[in-house]
Amino acid sequence: MADMRFGGKTVQEWLAGDALLKDVVDLKEVSWFNSDTVPFEEAIQTISLSETDVADASARLERFRPYIAKVFPETAKVGGLIESPLQPVPAFQKVLGKFHGTKLSGRLFAKLDSHLPISGSIKARGGIYEVLKHAEGLALQAGLLSVDDDYGTLANDACRRFFNTQAISVGSTGNLGLSIGIMGAQLGFRVSVHMSADARQWKKELLRSKGVNVVEYASDYSLAVAEGRRQAEKDPSCFFMDDENSVSLFLGYAVAAQRLKGQLDALGVAVNEEYPLFVYLPCGVGGGPGGVAFGLKLIFQDHVHCIFAEPTHSPAMLLGMYTGLHDAVSVQNFGIDNVTAADGLAVGRPSGFVGRMMLPLLDGVYTVSDENLYRYLAMMADTEGIWLEPSALAGAPGIVRGVGANGYLNKLSSGVQTDTATHLMWCTGGSMVPEDEMLAYYRKGSALLELGIA
Ligand SMILES: *Cc1c(COP(=O)(O)O)cnc(C)c1O
Repeated sequence: MADMRFGGKTVQEWLAGDALLKDVVDLKEVSWFNSDTVPFEEAIQTISLSETDVADASARLERFRPYIAKVFPETAKVGGLIESPLQPVPAFQKVLGKFHGTKLSGRLFAKLDSHLPISGSIKARGGIYEVLKHAEGLALQAGLLSVDDDYGTLANDACRRFFNTQAISVGSTGNLGLSIGIMGAQLGFRVSVHMSADARQWKKELLRSKGVNVVEYASDYSLAVAEGRRQAEKDPSCFFMDDENSVSLFLGYAVAAQRLKGQLDALGVAVNEEYPLFVYLPCGVGGGPGGVAFGLKLIFQDHVHCIFAEPTHSPAMLLGMYTGLHDAVSVQNFGIDNVTAADGLAVGRPSGFVGRMMLPLLDGVYTVSDENLYRYLAMMADTEGIWLEPSALAGAPGIVRGVGANGYLNKLSSGVQTDTATHLMWCTGGSMVPEDEMLAYYRKGSALLELGIA
């Protein structure tokens, strides 16, 4: 193992003289700020996706609103829109600064994808979008639907019977399976979800209660995906949703950006040279944060700075981007175990498609320890009454890495304002976590807070 080569080097050779990689391997919290970013206008030339693609995804979600409103009555009052609140979190910001012993200038907001309808996580964007896109394609082809129809028609028996002749399969650490399983089963598809060992029991039970075939693995995410893909290949009626490489998932996430712009406008928050926006996005395989970041870049260009956040035990995107090996490297290559309380982020190998595409646009990646995720979880519940799952707190220390002592903003040569900056932590999941489980997370966090900083 020790002398296994990846990217032409052994682990020892990778680590030699590289302080950052040594800290990553030692499971320390690190911040990496990307020196390969280029101005948006330049970066976009290298990217095959554009505003038109995001607009197409957005229009598709609009077409599905009558259907969503019909089959998920909790969305009826917003006309079938799957969107989450944005809110300032000043009390959390204050306590966070105190905890880290630093003054946090600027304003911190939380984007509560934890409270997205239907599946309670950021996967209710990309995951549900991809199922809808697939369903639309099949229904159009079968002559059951035309794009001008009221899509509420898809809830009728004939459509459900038709979708029941078709299968969907996906590999997941939990939340993607939840989104695709709930949406797919609702439409009538036969759905199989291949769950990695990280997946929580309640998610498996919930899916089974909806008739989803849940296949459990003792291994991590990459293997669950590989096995799911292999089984799907045997069934010609089966569509495999490939989280590691899917452009449509990515675009489903990207739609979030224009919605966020509307919310910022409504709150009177400007984004421009004087008022830059910093967004901290929990990252697993990369599609969710990548899609959102790409959408934000299209709108705010160089005035938005996107930073990904990963657990210290699963720094897959950090290693992929930093080494330039992308999906040709895994955390296990570096002897890191990929075992974390942040089950939504328990990914050992990043999406190569996302890493390559985002490299010129992403300001950086940092890591957070599980202990701190629990601490932030308790802090957020105490100060703002917002209950999140551990993964969703990875964005919490972003503002600290940005403007705290020796923060990123102090180093930005462009002289970015720190007092006028808006910081946004993307809170990616939590509202569906059963109460007893949430309480156990909270107690862990509270106990760790009493012990003080690690
Ligand atoms: C999946 C997930 C993410 C990250 O999304 P990726 O596309 O895997 O990078 C973040 N937070 C939660 C709660 C998730 O479930």
